Amino acid sequence: MTAQILDGKQLAETLRAEVKRGVLAFVAEHGRAPGLDVVLVGEDPASQVYTRNKEKQAKEVGIRGTLHTLPAETTEAELVALLARLNADDAVDGILVQLPLPKQIREQTVLDLIRPEKDVDGFHPVNAGLLASGRPSLVPCTPRGCMKLLERAGTKLAGARAVVIGRSNIVGKPALQLLLAESATVTIAHSRTKDLPALCREADVLVAAVGRPEMVRGDWVKDGAVVIDVGINRVEVPGTGKTRLVGDVAYDEVAERAAAITPVPGGVGPMTIACLLENTLVAARARVAAR
Ligand code: NDP
Repeated sequence: MTAQILDGKQLAETLRAEVKRGVLAFVAEHGRAPGLDVVLVGEDPASQVYTRNKEKQAKEVGIRGTLHTLPAETTEAELVALLARLNADDAVDGILVQLPLPKQIREQTVLDLIRPEKDVDGFHPVNAGLLASGRPSLVPCTPRGCMKLLERAGTKLAGARAVVIGRSNIVGKPALQLLLAESATVTIAHSRTKDLPALCREADVLVAAVGRPEMVRGDWVKDGAVVIDVGINRVEVPGTGKTRLVGDVAYDEVAERAAAITPVPGGVGPMTIACLLENTLVAARARVAAR
């Protein structure tokens, strides 16, 4: 079997076009653009690229994107003060604090301060709780992007056996909730799981969110499974002095057995930012509706 490639770049483009139409309608009705404020603390190169992309793509769909760049030595109190200001600013619909934060700042303490209705990353305990209660509000962008890719593949989720590898709050756990909401039978695996290859072989839908280059091998995957690779790992290309990105899935091996698979890059990654833009529009609409 040769797998269908689930093209996240193309699907993200479609979603961005949809968001752009929604933004135009929002502006026409409310006389202002939805606002997304992205906060970057420090100079982590990957975070700099991610935040610049978020701001740029927001602007491309007509969202008022603002990037706040703070020095690495910013104190927790200074960041808290900025968040208080953004929480209170009526023109701000979405607030995103780029992770990781420098050591002197407690990540969860800061994330908990973002008003849940502006929490476009969906990481606030209120939003996590709503998702777990089957009342999704602002849903974490990466797992939401995974669900859209599964939908695009026409994957039948009701009754399907799904395995999610990874139990982080930003990917694994919300992915579990979203798959469960679609009536899949879901198992979540992690570093203490016994015989992971055997568990993965039971999966009709396999989501890998681990952070280990090409960990999922061809013989871990059932014939005809749908495989979503969330992992982004930079590895050296031997003898070239160069690096390249690979996922958590050994793509070539798995593509021979799977019915559909997401590539890395170009799969889940582009969907994450597109879903962030969608969340910003959702947040803006919900905030005006709540008045
Ligand atoms: P975390 O490091 O927070 O979580 C990784 C999870 O993998 C943990 O639950 C860990 O288990 C589990 N794990 C680690 N080693 C193994 C193993 N040998 N066997 C089974 N499970 C294992 O990572 P994230 O969830 O934040 O990210 C996962 C990957 O997804 C990364 O590569 C990241 O770069 C990528 N990512 C991609 C995004 C995108 O837009 N495409 C967005 C966010 C992340 P335990 O809990 O027991 O430690």
